Amino acid sequence: MAFEQTGRIEPFDKKLWLASPTMHGEEMTYVQEAYSTNWMSTVGENIDQIERITCEKIGCGHAVALSAGTAALHLAVRLAGQELYGQPQAGHGTLEGRRVFASDMTFDATVNPICYEGGIPVFIDTERDTWNMDPAALRKAFELYPEVKLVVMAHLYGTPGKMDELVKICEEHGAVLVEDAAESLGASYKGIQTGAFGKYSCISFNGNKIITGSAGGMLLTDSREAADRARKWSTQSREAAPWYQHEELGYNYRMSNVIAGVVRGQYPHLEEHIAQKKAIYERYKEGFRDLPVSMNPYDADVCEPNFWLSCLLIDQDAMCRQVRGETEACYVKEKGKSCPTEILEALLSIRAEGRPIWKPMHMQPIYRTHGFVTEMGSGRAMTNAYIEGACVDVGMDIFQRGLCLPSDNKMTAGQQDRVIEIVKQCFA
Ligand SMILES: *Cc1c(COP(=O)(O)O)cnc(C)c1O
Repeated sequence: MAFEQTGRIEPFDKKLWLASPTMHGEEMTYVQEAYSTNWMSTVGENIDQIERITCEKIGCGHAVALSAGTAALHLAVRLAGQELYGQPQAGHGTLEGRRVFASDMTFDATVNPICYEGGIPVFIDTERDTWNMDPAALRKAFELYPEVKLVVMAHLYGTPGKMDELVKICEEHGAVLVEDAAESLGASYKGIQTGAFGKYSCISFNGNKIITGSAGGMLLTDSREAADRARKWSTQSREAAPWYQHEELGYNYRMSNVIAGVVRGQYPHLEEHIAQKKAIYERYKEGFRDLPVSMNPYDADVCEPNFWLSCLLIDQDAMCRQVRGETEACYVKEKGKSCPTEILEALLSIRAEGRPIWKPMHMQPIYRTHGFVTEMGSGRAMTNAYIEGACVDVGMDIFQRGLCLPSDNKMTAGQQDRVIEIVKQCFA
């Protein structure tokens, strides 16, 4: 059914975005500098500067600017794979046939690089306190798959995961941790920036992230040797020789000095963006006080999120019936209740952009045959027995009941009030 307003909220003149780039002016100065000096390639001052700034900000030894966060994650996973299992033959991945533990409820960019390297992701269920990898499920997973040596975890929507526990479990099992901090740049856990926990980590400057270069990403590590190797891989693995000499597989993953100019101009505004996003989160929280919903949670005593996206979770008993197929959804309107599908339609009706929660990887057709572990143990059989309304794992439950709200840092308080009003109508 189509959403029908009960009140009268005017649609926005211009689309209200989920999260869009916000430029300030300095970006153009650095881009112009690259242009007027002809440093328009994949080397230059902008790249050097943002690598330095990133190391300072995050507190890591080395940062390698790359074409995307996904490229950074790929090289991170490849570094880990080579360290654990040795150098592969040309044309083979470093993780061929090896299982790797990965966050389940995340963007698939977290997981795909494992497969680029021939690895087999096994998904770890989500906990309710931060919506990240569940330490209890990770512990269970090491009981079920004691041979695993690599864990790839993401900090969802800018909220740090439970790093004390996750790091400890990895250490106990001699496993390497790769951290996907693509969404959480500037967020910290017990005073330490996300991106500083993994042996290899990645951040992203994709267009809708907290700061952007229009595209781009970075690999972070404390190891000079690993950083040098990633740099070499990212430039088609040229050896030091007078001609193009190649001993191992290479990639074209370097960042452009033009893109780096945009990132360089954005960095001074990171804290300002975080403050704006936090204000948006707080305003939603206040605005929804009387609704049967909660916001994406975090523990203010242990972490400072970057509040990249504000998300909503509908109380179980305030959910109207909603059925989702592979590509379509429908719901039955009920008085006093709602569901993500209805709220997303309502937002759309006033030209505001929301988004479902990342659909968990264990529910994705591409990864449906892969292992999946909850705090109870192997979750695959339970998932197959899933019936409407009876979610048996945390990720599936949050996907069913949650959604991302418009979180653009240029959204005015007045605009946000209209968003809050339309959500309230859904529960009328
Ligand atoms: C955006 C994102 C990435 C990938 O970053 P790109 O720069 O878009 O390649 C990886 N992981 C997560 C969780 C992301 O949100």
